[in-house]
Amino acid sequence: MSNKIFDCIILGGGPAGLSSALYCARGNLDCAIIDISSIGGAPVNYCEIENYLGFDKIKGFELCEKFENHINNFNITKLEYEEITKVDLKSNIKTITTKNSTYRAKTVIIATGAKPKKLNIKGEVENIGKGVSYCAVCDGAFYKDKVVMVVGGGNSALEEALYLTTFAKKVYLMHRRDEFRADKIIQKRVQENKKIELILNSIPLEIMADKTVNSVKILNNQTNKEKIIKIDGIFPYIGIEPNIELFLHQVNFDKFGFIITDNTMKTNLEGVYAIGDVRNTPLRQVITAVSDGAVAGVEVSKYLLNLKETMKEKEV
Ligand code: NAP
Repeated sequence: MSNKIFDCIILGGGPAGLSSALYCARGNLDCAIIDISSIGGAPVNYCEIENYLGFDKIKGFELCEKFENHINNFNITKLEYEEITKVDLKSNIKTITTKNSTYRAKTVIIATGAKPKKLNIKGEVENIGKGVSYCAVCDGAFYKDKVVMVVGGGNSALEEALYLTTFAKKVYLMHRRDEFRADKIIQKRVQENKKIELILNSIPLEIMADKTVNSVKILNNQTNKEKIIKIDGIFPYIGIEPNIELFLHQVNFDKFGFIITDNTMKTNLEGVYAIGDVRNTPLRQVITAVSDGAVAGVEVSKYLLNLKETMKEKEV
């Protein structure tokens, strides 16, 4: 372990983490971003983003590239492809242990985001990479002229179903109710797209495969009838769950597992903040993640200034 103590270590290099790094760096703080993969976060895999102010339409990876280019103008330590194995957030000096090293900091910003929820049905996990995918942008091109199914009724499901129509000859969009929670503008586009067939009031029961996925057994929850539909691939988009395993028994969570913060992004622990999809926020968008990051970056600067002044007073 090096003797270095960062002012702030940011856990996660998505839009929230990058924005907090920008604000920390502009506050002249010595900060580092640690990410298990490359910088960018979940939006790298979004097909298109059209609700980030200033861009009519931009591909997820392009926006993330712009974020990264922006923070590259500052002296921020980027620790990519570092898997965090343990964190100690309760002490005054926080310790972050990765598979390669141990880092220390006066403050920590948790920006670890969220992962896709699983359907938890037979044939799902067994067939990941063989027809089950949680990323249309990554795998859509494998389904040229094929038949796929998207499950879910939120923004992700509808947006990715639309994206998949650029490859697939048919996209079933299956939802457990008859009303979608996705934005109305996306719903209209889905209704107008001839390649999309809606299957409402239905849930998947089992994904069947030989070498790759070939069909799905579904249940209509109104008629109670089961049916088998032939498909080549299935994309569950049924929501997200926060990446919080590292912080259990340290920070406080709400009943859904999201980290509780106040409106300055502070958690229950001194010097620990949470931002973006991992926290209990009413809206999970790139624009709100970036806004969380700005608030946390400024709050960390204020916190460290107060800490310095308190130390000085103690010395006098
Ligand atoms: P979401 O909004 O939580 O929607 C999840 C959908 O999956 C819901 O329609 C839900 O049905 C359904 N569902 C949940 N569990 C299910 C299960 N076990 N079986 C079948 N269906 C199930 O999730 P999301 O679409 O992934 O979006 C996550 C967040 O990111 C949201 O806040 C969303 O607004 C945001 N987002 C924004 C954009 C954008 O603005 N461009 C794009 C993508 C995502 P019910 O409706 O019946 O609950």
